[in-house]
Amino acid sequence: MDTIAIITGAGSGLGQATAVRLAKDGVNIAVVDVNEKGGNETVEMVKKLGPDAIFIKADVSKAEEVKKYVDQTVEHFGRIDYFFNNAGISGSGKFFLDTDIKEIEQIVGINLLGALYGVRYVAEVMLKNGGGSIVNTASSAGVIGQDSVVTYSATKHGIVGLTKSMVAEYAKDGLRVNAIAPGPTETPMVKSFYEANPEMKANAEAGIPQRRLGTADEVAELVTFLLTSKAQYINGEVIRIDGGFTNTK
Ligand code: NAD
Repeated sequence: MDTIAIITGAGSGLGQATAVRLAKDGVNIAVVDVNEKGGNETVEMVKKLGPDAIFIKADVSKAEEVKKYVDQTVEHFGRIDYFFNNAGISGSGKFFLDTDIKEIEQIVGINLLGALYGVRYVAEVMLKNGGGSIVNTASSAGVIGQDSVVTYSATKHGIVGLTKSMVAEYAKDGLRVNAIAPGPTETPMVKSFYEANPEMKANAEAGIPQRRLGTADEVAELVTFLLTSKAQYINGEVIRIDGGFTNTK
């Protein structure tokens, strides 16, 4: 039987790397993103490896668009086995009291509401079919406090709560929900953040025991493990992948 995954934010970075990694295992992918160019590029990368893929343009901060990407995936593939709930933005890196209300609303809308809506609609479909596996993208900023990312950190701590509490309600019905907490990882999001705040890159590397940023492929490997039955007794976990960063804070 075919395996079907939805990945949000799959047009770039961690989402794209995970789409490619899952495709190598034969998984069909619904690629969700606001970025059409990146999304279509991911579809081509997946199809080149053999599995089927579709691009669905959707803004995860809008509940009706989340419902649409879930409905379109079911229409096309018939089922959802895996969900990598990953789309997110970082924000400007300003201290909290210098941050506009608009930016706060935007980060919360995409990172937290977007993730909640995704789980709300995807889990409903999964549970009708006996269960499924969800990986939510938190962050090192979701397990420790950090300056310059107060709103972002609040949303990523929220992802941790979403992950653990879903398990309390639905693990008995066959649902697994885990989260990843990557430290700074080389993706377009981080590159543009560090271009705007160059001193923060040197600080970040110096603060990581392994003295380097992570790679998207390393994160994709972890997400793939958590999504599959190899991780079948792992539930409600928040797995750090950060070169030792948060464990030495
Ligand atoms: P990225 O910018 O490379 O990719 C994010 C993707 O999400 C983009 O393709 C973007 O178009 C999409 N996106 C943004 N807003 C969206 C919306 N409203 N609806 C649909 N799609 C939207 O970034 P990335 O580094 O791959 O980040 C992926 C996730 O990983 C984010 O949740 C981020 O917070 C998290 N994260 C990243 C790092 C890191 O260092 N790269 C560390 C910890 C956590």
